[in-house]
Amino acid sequence: MLRSTRVITPEGTRAASVAVAGGRITAVLPHDAEVPAGARLEDFGDDVLLPGLVDTHVHVNDPGRTEWEGFWTATRAAAAGGITTIVDMPLNSLPPTTTVDHLRTKRDVARSKAHVDVGFWGGALPDNVKDLRPLHDAGVFGFKAFLSPSGVEEFPELDQDRLARSLAEISGFGGLLIVHAEDPHHLDAAPHKGGRRYADFLASRPRDAENTAVGNLVAQARRLDARVHVLHLSSSGALPLIAAAKAEGVRLTVETCPHYLTLTAEEVPDGASEFKCCPPIREAANQDLLWQALADGTIDCVVTDHSPSTADLKTDDFATAWGGVSGLQLSLPAVWTEARRRGHDLEDVVRWMSTRTARLVGLDHRKGAVLAGHDADFAVLAPDETFTVDPAALEHRNPVTAYAGKTLSGVVKSTWLRGRRVMSEGRFTDPAGELLSRHP
Ligand SMILES: [Zn+2]
Repeated sequence: MLRSTRVITPEGTRAASVAVAGGRITAVLPHDAEVPAGARLEDFGDDVLLPGLVDTHVHVNDPGRTEWEGFWTATRAAAAGGITTIVDMPLNSLPPTTTVDHLRTKRDVARSKAHVDVGFWGGALPDNVKDLRPLHDAGVFGFKAFLSPSGVEEFPELDQDRLARSLAEISGFGGLLIVHAEDPHHLDAAPHKGGRRYADFLASRPRDAENTAVGNLVAQARRLDARVHVLHLSSSGALPLIAAAKAEGVRLTVETCPHYLTLTAEEVPDGASEFKCCPPIREAANQDLLWQALADGTIDCVVTDHSPSTADLKTDDFATAWGGVSGLQLSLPAVWTEARRRGHDLEDVVRWMSTRTARLVGLDHRKGAVLAGHDADFAVLAPDETFTVDPAALEHRNPVTAYAGKTLSGVVKSTWLRGRRVMSEGRFTDPAGELLSRHP
């Protein structure tokens, strides 16, 4: 039995005792509930007990680019950050997750290394339409597509015709398409100076590229009555059309990331490519509008888009440096620190980073809430304790992060997976994560 004066439940935050058996929550009881004979009590005092976070956007890169990241290190970073489920992106590993054979390879590699539960996205490429249905049946949670170059040659983008074809196929079997939405023509037309100045990089990935791509995607979703999800939204310019599409009944969901919510273009030093990602971190005024959209539900959820590489690929030229921010372990404290400053509470953070992400991938029958019948996955958080980010002390493979030197609120004391404490004060058990498949 787990006990805290602050348990975040779907009905709000309250003092409670959570009974656990067989890896599941069996009941949420009053704080002073009697401990059943033979059961052990873990009393967390005033530390907050919240549902383990569900991060549906993680690039693990294993196998094939394991020097960038691997299942062992990524899932330890997740556990250290209070994340109990990750869903791995289909690209940057070799092979990419674009056939059932490749999925099998990925699952074989992940199985013995997973410190948290791991699910997989499939990939939609120009030439794999025939593989989509078999991947869906094999348990991927949906399909990722790019509209502009992905950064790796084995994962080409879809043009509008191919996007339409893949989306028709996916919606035909009730699947989900998730999209990196930057329009290639707007990117081509933007100035490309390259070099060390962040302002030049920002100009090369304009808001219009995102706005246009999101607009096209909404049109396709509407035409096919298909379910689509916009990955890592950075441009506030797309928010009005997203809000309008949702109001009209288009089946659209949208995520953004901790780095867009907590870091700003104005603070990026010259040459500091640990801040480089696509779409880019934008100006403070843009960030304010993203927060407003989270508050009013235009943006559904927050995921990390943890996309690391080795340090040598993070050169000081923004044009050629690898694009991707490493923030898996820090996502909860980073978002909580800024959310609190803006008047939000932890219930909001849990909704954005656990409840709604679980729903996005159809795992809301067992993840994303402290509720009887759900997996006993928890994070125990000391919300007022602070720490300063030391990249070398983080669990992901390469000690590179845009959050270096930041002081953040919220220390994850322990993380629980199906009733087992898998991380405690930075110490880990042997891997106990399961490989997850889409709920049929
Ligand atoms: Zn990504």
